[in-house]
Amino acid sequence: MMAPALPDPDTTRLDALEREALHRVLIARVEAAWRLCREVHPALPRPAVWLDLRGKSAGQAHFGRGGLRFNPVLFDENRRAFLVEVVPHEMAHWLVHHLEDGGRARPHGREWQTVMRSLFGLAPTTTHRFDTRRASPAPYRYRCACREHAFTARRHGLARRGSRYRCRHCAQTLVYCDRSAFEKSV
Ligand SMILES: [Zn+2]
Ligand SMILES: [Zn+2]
Repeated sequence: MMAPALPDPDTTRLDALEREALHRVLIARVEAAWRLCREVHPALPRPAVWLDLRGKSAGQAHFGRGGLRFNPVLFDENRRAFLVEVVPHEMAHWLVHHLEDGGRARPHGREWQTVMRSLFGLAPTTTHRFDTRRASPAPYRYRCACREHAFTARRHGLARRGSRYRCRHCAQTLVYCDRSAFEKSV
């Protein structure tokens, strides 16, 4: 495998950035990835960029809207990995989609893998290992006698420090019951 085609980000500088500056770095990285793709597909349109993705997904190529969506919470927490892996991953989807017959290619099929390897110099992985707890609105599962309850990170923190919550329906104290927040997702 060849070396990554895009330069390695300066992690120290990256960690110090405020939100707006950080978002500019992401947009610049998308631009760099797009320019690289234009070397093999000069007519490739420039994708718009949105930081409006929620939940467990890191990024998404949205062909209907004409651009790439990224998860701002996961980006904030995984800055380097986003620039190194997530941006090329989504840009590879964007490129494949715009190739002749690209609409018929499987999402992470041979064409996408070839772009990842040959153009970006990256392993074509399709899952991320980001901790998605803060990105999910209420990822902590609690249980009582009658149902399951979803806690936010803040409420879960309070419960861990001793606050007790009761179910309004059955009056039982809620008990933390699983670790679904640690699941990996594409
Ligand atoms: Zn993908
Ligand atoms: Zn209950």
